[in-house]
Amino acid sequence: MKHILATDIGGTTCKMGVFTPELELLHKWEIQTDTSDEGGRILGNIHQSFQSEGYSPEDTIGVGLGVPGPVDFNNGILNGAINLNWMHRKPIAAEFEALSGMSTMVDNDANVAALGEQFKGAGMGHKDVVMVTLGTGVGGGVVSNSLLIHGHGGAAGEIGHLLVDYDQRFQCNCGKKGCLETVASATGMKNLAMFYHHEHKGTRLDMAIENGTVSAKMIVEAAQEGDALGLRVIDEVAQYIAIALSHISAVTNPKYFIIGGGVSRAGRILTERIEAHYRPITFPPAYENTEIVMAELGNDAGIYGAARLVKQYLT
Ligand SMILES: [Zn+2]
Repeated sequence: MKHILATDIGGTTCKMGVFTPELELLHKWEIQTDTSDEGGRILGNIHQSFQSEGYSPEDTIGVGLGVPGPVDFNNGILNGAINLNWMHRKPIAAEFEALSGMSTMVDNDANVAALGEQFKGAGMGHKDVVMVTLGTGVGGGVVSNSLLIHGHGGAAGEIGHLLVDYDQRFQCNCGKKGCLETVASATGMKNLAMFYHHEHKGTRLDMAIENGTVSAKMIVEAAQEGDALGLRVIDEVAQYIAIALSHISAVTNPKYFIIGGGVSRAGRILTERIEAHYRPITFPPAYENTEIVMAELGNDAGIYGAARLVKQYLT
């Protein structure tokens, strides 16, 4: 039997997976990501790891790679990935094919996670799904009619850079202000807590902000304990996410919005508020039967989606 190989390359570890042609996961493991020498060893280490597990070009359909940076999907070129010390454009697909002799598909990590959740996780059974990953930043992936949407320049699905804070209070990593990422990521939660803490003097959260130790986790915990500042931040985060989902609904009308990433561990306190803000501001036909759900595959979403790309484009 031939196999499909998949890797989700992260700044700390690479998640590795081996799948049947029907996309059943047979075997998974992790290797450390060696970002030294400008990340020059990363692809070689992935190749070696597959080799040492006994996989060769003869018994492989193809390899799917998820990478933490913007990808030109049509030619498999990555436009830099800071976490991997890859600072320049890099033809990942061509490089990995030359190394391994295996056909290779490459896409952005948030995109492959969305595709994984769509066919095997929280979106299973539905062709139209949008995933929002709330972590250090805000990532996104749009699956329409079972295919990822890449767009003309590969920037489709970059939900984190939708303008939602019209006051444009906080600077985004992309160079603009007011992006969803500046108010809904872990950093965004801290931005909001710092912006409002003067109105909530003397609380535990206020003190943590004053002495510089505040974290997104603390803000969530404070909200769960009923802290006024914590609740205000969570509610505003939810409101901004709802604005983004409302706009997305009118464009792709997904069946599921799948919320993943570290910030999503806030759970119901966050999703209930997103729901409450989302429906009143959204075009009714665009939210009917749309559900906001939590991601289900955790760290495996990326390898499932990368394997799915191979199945979709190489078989
Ligand atoms: Zn931005």
